[in-house]
Amino acid sequence: MILDHLNDKQREAALHTEGPLLILAGAGSGKTATMTHRIAYLIEQGMSPYKILAVTFTNKAAEEMRHRVEKLVGYCPGMWILTFHSMSLRILREHYEAAGYEKNFVVYDTVDQKALLKNILKELNVDSKEYPINYLAAIISKEKEADRGPEEYLELEGDTFKNKVIYRVYKEYQKQLKKNNAMDFDDLLLNALHVLRDNKEILGEYQRRFSYIMVDEYQDTNHIQYQIIRLLAASHQNLCVVGDDDQCIYQWRGADIRNILDFEKDFPEAKVIKLEQNYRSCGNILAAAHSVIRNNRGRKSKKLWTEAEEGHKIVYSRLDNDKEEAYYVAREIQLLKGPHRDYDDFAILYRTNAQSRLFEDSLRRQRIPYQILSGFSFYERKETKDMISYMRLVVNSKDDMAFLRIINEPKRGIGAKTLEKLQAIAMVRGESLLEAISDEEVLLSLPSKAQAAVRELVSIINMCRDERENLRISDIYDNLLVRTGYMRALEEQNTVEAEGRIENLLDFKSFIYDFEKEKQESGEKATLEEFLEKVATDGDADKFESESGKVTLMTLHSAKGLEFPVVFMPGMEDGLFPSHRSIDSEEKLEEERRLCYVGMTRAKERLFLTSASFRVLYGQGEYARESQFLRELDKKLLDSDGDTVYEPQSRKTHSSLGVSTGSLDGFAETPIKPYDPLARAKKAVKEHSAQGDIAFDVGDKVAHSKFGAGLVIDVDEKTITVIFDSEGRKKMAKGIAPLTKI
Ligand code: ATP
Ligand code: MG
Repeated sequence: MILDHLNDKQREAALHTEGPLLILAGAGSGKTATMTHRIAYLIEQGMSPYKILAVTFTNKAAEEMRHRVEKLVGYCPGMWILTFHSMSLRILREHYEAAGYEKNFVVYDTVDQKALLKNILKELNVDSKEYPINYLAAIISKEKEADRGPEEYLELEGDTFKNKVIYRVYKEYQKQLKKNNAMDFDDLLLNALHVLRDNKEILGEYQRRFSYIMVDEYQDTNHIQYQIIRLLAASHQNLCVVGDDDQCIYQWRGADIRNILDFEKDFPEAKVIKLEQNYRSCGNILAAAHSVIRNNRGRKSKKLWTEAEEGHKIVYSRLDNDKEEAYYVAREIQLLKGPHRDYDDFAILYRTNAQSRLFEDSLRRQRIPYQILSGFSFYERKETKDMISYMRLVVNSKDDMAFLRIINEPKRGIGAKTLEKLQAIAMVRGESLLEAISDEEVLLSLPSKAQAAVRELVSIINMCRDERENLRISDIYDNLLVRTGYMRALEEQNTVEAEGRIENLLDFKSFIYDFEKEKQESGEKATLEEFLEKVATDGDADKFESESGKVTLMTLHSAKGLEFPVVFMPGMEDGLFPSHRSIDSEEKLEEERRLCYVGMTRAKERLFLTSASFRVLYGQGEYARESQFLRELDKKLLDSDGDTVYEPQSRKTHSSLGVSTGSLDGFAETPIKPYDPLARAKKAVKEHSAQGDIAFDVGDKVAHSKFGAGLVIDVDEKTITVIFDSEGRKKMAKGIAPLTKI
């Protein structure tokens, strides 16, 4: 029954539960759906949910999958559906000692990581201009992804002067992390791997527990993740991996496409199932995406077909500049919304976060509600980070980074000199800063004006720690917010900015409430540790609400696995997309092309591509050529109506300026009329009234623009089924199919 929703191939995959299985298929072919049904099927067959492990790419995707499974088979406690990072975290929470850590270790996000590196550079007297922090962070991360420590780094790279500096930074960085009882994101995976690899008993425990293992988006696993999965599945090999080599977009972060291409080599018994029917996108969108990805070499050839309508053609518009582009997109959204679409049907997917600001502006101006998913909202706000640091100190008194962040927030009269002294004392005593300062003797060595405030701080943190069993997270938060003087300091500032911060802090409190409520509903007590873990491991795609009534803005990377009726991909320019860093490397260019494929295949009904002749990015204005991906796109699939393909009025202006721009490279082959907003609006109105407003009934005779005459035999909320004289039976989407009554 459960598998009735699947097609034959999908069902075959769901039924193949024993032994290794690779589902290799293109975008929108129902890979995730198949995996979900497979889990439900196993449970329906009597398998305990406790024995199932499913790994997905974002917490959001994991939640969604759990939700779908539970919809099919009811509540499933104890089932692990989570991301690689959360899985590693759980393993490490259960076996922190084997990893050489203390209970309640904390997870450092990139901001903490950079703060720590900054301190280290200062300590080691390394110039951050010569060795930028981002550069060092990237090297360290790369080394960890390859499971190489500082010594191995030096050995492999050679002991040049530069490498020796990096070696010392890396080594000190690891030492400090350990001292702070902290791990960074890469450590989570690496330590989990080491614990499993080096402890037969622990490995055995998980191998026995997880009889069935599944991994979605397998193309984006890195080498460490791959090894973790191999270890876990080694004994029974009931491993099902799902992926699309055309959608590997995280090579820059260590994802190894070979993991999927070599699956059959690693598991010679593996069964391979290809899914070829796409259920997501209209024919034209699918064809357009393929005309681009086809240019990548070294891919497994895959065909995708769809029963869906060809649908609308792809609309490409070249605008004069980036502001015009943002205005155009907002306007198009207003025109397309009509009575049959809600704002949450629209997504704007861009290459870099820096592109979002203009869209925010234009959407706000047009009073279009939107939600923006970027790494720089919520958790990155200063005040939120401060409060999180306070909470971290409550669970882990060794967390020096958190201590340094808040010791003078609010001002407690601790200057740089005093801090240095304190750090020296703590080092001699072999303690963390908080531990050291908790000793009255050390406290008394502080300047007398600081003593009272610091004593108060220590006592509040200790009180919260001692009482944390009896307090809710929100109570702890309140205590910290008020009794540390943080709130008062903001109130006393009495500025607009401070008011904004106070609002954000209240906002954060509702977030804590939500977390508590969610836990309560599933009958568990919400602990501060778990809350901090959620905060640390939430990726940006995790704040995404579907059905929010808002347009979604996000990067192409975070759109992975999602789908929207209407997608806009702005910034189709060489140097932006593909990014300038990829232009002279075939490998990187192919990754950008895959990203383009991912973006295009998010669209169900309509796809809009735009580019701007002139753009200001990172404070610099530049004329940009149309993206190489546009040149690759099959022109037949472009809407050449003339009223939606815009040509900048400034073709002349630019050349008269003597600037050669993309608009001259002749990409748009079809004759182009200048943009006429009025004509465009009229057309939109016509489209809306052509859609959905015609009520079709069973028995109606209809005409279709491609299939000719037919008879309606079934109508439901979303679809119309017609038997065509020439083509036979077809099920079509209401409102999109070009049908008229005859
Ligand atoms: P991606 O590669 O983007 O992750 P995917 O292969 O995981 O895509 P899904 O997200 O599982 O694809 O499915 C795409 C859409 O197709 C979803 O809306 C899903 O509900 C629908 N779908 C999948 N299988 C079927 C089916 N057999 N019948 C009808 N709809 C289906
Ligand atoms: Mg998927």
